[in-house]
Amino acid sequence: MPVQPPRQPDLLVLPDVGVSPSAPPLIDRFQRRITYLRLSVTDRCDLRCAYCMPERMTFLPKREVLSLEELYQLACGFIARGVTKLRLTGGEPLVRRGIIDLIAALGRHLGHGLEELTLTTNATRLAGHAEALARAGVRRINVSLDTLDRARFARLTRRDALPQVLDGITAARRAGLTVKLNVVALKGVNEAELPEIIAWGHGEGHDVTLIEVMPLGDVEEDRLDQYLPLNEVRARLAQRWSLTDSDHRTGGPARYVTIAETGGRLGFITPHTGNFCSGCNRLRVTATGQLFPCLGGGERVDLRAALRSEDPEARLSAALDEALAIKPERHHFRMDARGAAPALARHMSLTGG
Ligand code: SAM
Ligand code: SF4
Repeated sequence: MPVQPPRQPDLLVLPDVGVSPSAPPLIDRFQRRITYLRLSVTDRCDLRCAYCMPERMTFLPKREVLSLEELYQLACGFIARGVTKLRLTGGEPLVRRGIIDLIAALGRHLGHGLEELTLTTNATRLAGHAEALARAGVRRINVSLDTLDRARFARLTRRDALPQVLDGITAARRAGLTVKLNVVALKGVNEAELPEIIAWGHGEGHDVTLIEVMPLGDVEEDRLDQYLPLNEVRARLAQRWSLTDSDHRTGGPARYVTIAETGGRLGFITPHTGNFCSGCNRLRVTATGQLFPCLGGGERVDLRAALRSEDPEARLSAALDEALAIKPERHHFRMDARGAAPALARHMSLTGG
């Protein structure tokens, strides 16, 4: 049977924001070339992970959030300035209405400046979307999964959704998507379970990446109670398994090892125990169009104002240049003071991890 072309979303009739093709690439003061955009499409989420947001999270008024058309225009502007990798995130990107239309529209840029289109998801709604994502040109996705224990999952995310998440991962694999599992390492929560999660992930054919918790936004617990340094985790894993450093890179801050016994790859994202800022190649934009040059910094540029101005092309280009000029050399997260206020007031669900 012939393969049906994907439905052409209305979005495609929009002209790209016309950053001229001769516009200079995005290079910051420290000679880091920016090729990676993480674009948050919503701050809303159907889970409430305890390290990410409080149970009673206040979400942004919908009118503040960029329309799908604006998100599309914005992404086109970045592609015109040399961004080759685009990750949609959130909040939970798959709760945004019309998200598949946006992804299909962006997928048309693959092979025309854009090399990779991907997303980070909690997978609760992945089962219903996996085929459409694959059709739109998505090849790899990151799924956040911090435990395989249903009761622990329900406690940690405050929602009993592990079965849907596992169904989502299965559907993604069936659709031909490569799945990487992201696991935030949490002291006393999934600490003892980490080897089991890694072994399960590798057994299912997924790379697994462990992440150190970052002090973003007020949550109900003390960050220091959640924080598990990954150098300690790695040392413990090395007593159980043979770990070998790997050159594998995915364009992000993770550093990988291979595990002889599981035959899989394990990444470590270590904002605290191993700074990675010198290789930073990314910018982040929130669902309201605020560009944060650094996840761990307060610097910010308003792209929504540029987009909604009389001359969006020139204003957006100027705003990107401003972001390059203020991108800091490194983040300044600290994780050493009990009872400390969050390093930054904004939650991870705003900037999208
Ligand atoms: N909802 C999607 C998900 O969970 O995959 C995408 C957005 S979520 C904010 C992106 C990533 O950030 C997830 O892997 C999540 O575990 C991680 N994350 C959230 N809050 C964090 C924090 N305070 N420190 C470290 N990672 C965090
Ligand atoms: Fe939602 Fe992702 Fe935050 Fe969990 S980590 S609450 S899934 S945005």
